[in-house]
Amino acid sequence: MDVWRCHRWYVGDKIPLMRKLITVVFLATACNSAPQGASDHFYLDKQATEHAAEWSYEGETGPDHWGDLSPQYRLATTGKMQSPINIDTHTVKIEDLPELELHYGGETPDFVNNGHTIQHNQENDGSELIVGGKHYRLEQFHLHAPSEHTIDGRLLPLEIHVVHKAADGEIAVIAVFVEEGKSSAALKLIADAQIPDHKGDTGSLKQPILMRHLLPVEPHYYTYRGSFTTPPCTEGVRWFVLKHRLEATGPLLRKMADALKNNHRPVQALNGRVVRGH
Ligand SMILES: [Zn+2]
Repeated sequence: MDVWRCHRWYVGDKIPLMRKLITVVFLATACNSAPQGASDHFYLDKQATEHAAEWSYEGETGPDHWGDLSPQYRLATTGKMQSPINIDTHTVKIEDLPELELHYGGETPDFVNNGHTIQHNQENDGSELIVGGKHYRLEQFHLHAPSEHTIDGRLLPLEIHVVHKAADGEIAVIAVFVEEGKSSAALKLIADAQIPDHKGDTGSLKQPILMRHLLPVEPHYYTYRGSFTTPPCTEGVRWFVLKHRLEATGPLLRKMADALKNNHRPVQALNGRVVRGH
């Protein structure tokens, strides 16, 4: 067993590989209720959105109009707990929050262009996140460029969302920001892969990625209760936005931006929600 442990991050054995980025934005405020309809989201169930209304990131089907495109998307307009949000680091409520325990193993060599992002789906191999004693199975990770969440009003070049689901249906997402800096071997593998250009196209990484290379070593996070950032914008999602950022080179980030085509939703109103941190 090759256990990698760094502070509070625990990566399970045989971890070698992963094609899941971990950006978890665990938004979480200890909530126990399963988000209504979350399991219908296309992130988790492709069948569910096969006949759903088309949406995009620009023009008449862009974020400003999502709520009008389909009755199923109404929350995009009427919801009071929507994501992403701006995180004002000066007003974050500092608390003694539970540690994030990541137990990831196995690999998902293929990824797909689902029409909105590049997504790596995870096979059910026991990979999971545990927080406050609650277990969330790792489902997939995908990318947004530029970032969706902002920090003190600032966008970052790339944001990774790692999506997990608990047995009761609750969704927990870890969000990881990537900023320009030194080269990242793991992110380079993703960027060097044949990123699928068209909806439905698939691609593969040339070699497995070590999970620990995709995660910041610092486990600290901001957390709040929000929603999926894509239609139907289902609420009840626990977000964990990691404070520490990954780095990647400028050319790599530009390549990812070209592939992802500005797939970010603007920040949404807090509506009284409190962002917690530690
Ligand atoms: Zn996302």
